[in-house]
Amino acid sequence: MRLLVIGCGGVAQVAIQKCAQNKEVFTHMCLASRTVSKCDALKEKIEKAGYPVEITTATVNADDAQDVVRVIREYKPDAVLNVALPYQDLAIMDACLECKVDYIDTANYEPEDTDEPVWRAAYEKRCKEKGFTAYFDYSYQWAYMDKFKEAGITGLLGTGFDPGVTSVFTAYAKKHYFDRIDTIDILDCNGGDHGYAFATNFNPEINLREVSANGSYWEDGHWVETKPMEIKREYDFPEVGKKDMYLLHHEEIEALGRNFPEVKRIRFFMTFGQSYLDHMRCLEDVGMLSTTPIKFEGKDIVPIQFLKALLPDPASLGPRTVGKTNIGCIFRGVKDGKEKVIYIYNVCDHQECYKELGSQAISYTTGVPAMIGTALVLKGDWKRPGVYTTDEFDPDPYMDMLNEYGLPWVVDENPVEVE
Ligand code: NDP
Repeated sequence: MRLLVIGCGGVAQVAIQKCAQNKEVFTHMCLASRTVSKCDALKEKIEKAGYPVEITTATVNADDAQDVVRVIREYKPDAVLNVALPYQDLAIMDACLECKVDYIDTANYEPEDTDEPVWRAAYEKRCKEKGFTAYFDYSYQWAYMDKFKEAGITGLLGTGFDPGVTSVFTAYAKKHYFDRIDTIDILDCNGGDHGYAFATNFNPEINLREVSANGSYWEDGHWVETKPMEIKREYDFPEVGKKDMYLLHHEEIEALGRNFPEVKRIRFFMTFGQSYLDHMRCLEDVGMLSTTPIKFEGKDIVPIQFLKALLPDPASLGPRTVGKTNIGCIFRGVKDGKEKVIYIYNVCDHQECYKELGSQAISYTTGVPAMIGTALVLKGDWKRPGVYTTDEFDPDPYMDMLNEYGLPWVVDENPVEVE
């Protein structure tokens, strides 16, 4: 099968190397990105490692659907894996539609310019109607459902770890452990230490936009919004230990709330150390997290993009990050008339990831599921015309591949719950 991968950052580097390991599915790959030298360097690394995949590279501006169409027409892939930024989702989906090629991504669309008037008006209406204020929501991508169906192509949205694996865990829990799920707590713990005073583990702009926003959770069919970091809990994570975690808005809540309407409450928590939070608050207070351009010496600059240029490249954190991540979901529900609670999670070691692929665990835990989702669409197991999230397919082959490709999972049938 021929795969076109767009983007060559931290997540892409893992996804592409994992595709190379899966030689039954991925025989040909084109690595295309804004900075083609990164694609060339990765091609050389993979060829040196002796993987039998044939790789070419290309330059693409994925903000421009027609430029993506050009690369698709030249390369003729069976599918496109988008591991660029959420800003490019719709342009790449448009190109896939025009060329009738399957589409896969790891993150929900959000606009780069949040002051653009047409988008802003729709956003403000949605905030009022739906009750959450995150810049991203699924409506823009779900709107492609009929067009993808008519074209006979599959759109698989959000096949990273969270979203992605956490949604597959939910489908798996429902299939094998519950007649009804009542509550879901998604817990994302990074117990890793990179030794910098402040750095983000994936694209700083996307990461800081997400964690500085209001929190929210889904309860009884509607959103409950909180101030940023308003809800804090401590949890003792298997293989990591006790960590403070904070309630955030997160994209899989929207899809799970829609696709599992019986679930009464869905929350998402992420761990942060005090130093990270202090730095973030300070940067926010001085305006460095703003997405609105300001004039500086006659030029327009976007403060958060300037900050990104100052911070360490997440792809460079691999050699210095030690410790483990633990990401998973605690489900409470009912089976055969009895209440039960289970916790499905994966533990991933930063240094083990670095030894295997030269990446830290955040890129690894996102890149492996990106390969798995793509492989399942290409093999046909998850091919279904339309646009879907990962909780809408049979979870079993995905769960098997997590074990096979480096993200083994555990089911704890007697976990401590989050208060
Ligand atoms: P990086 O910033 O490291 O990489 C992004 C890549 O996309 C870079 O190679 C960049 O090019 C390229 N790119 C950016 N804009 C364009 C464009 N207009 N045209 C072509 N290429 C472009 O990001 P990450 O690897 O950390 O993240 C990748 C994606 O994964 C993001 O969407 C992120 O939100 C998502 N993610 C999902 C997670 C999940 O669990 N679901 C977790 C973590 C991340 P250049 O090299 O020139 O900058």
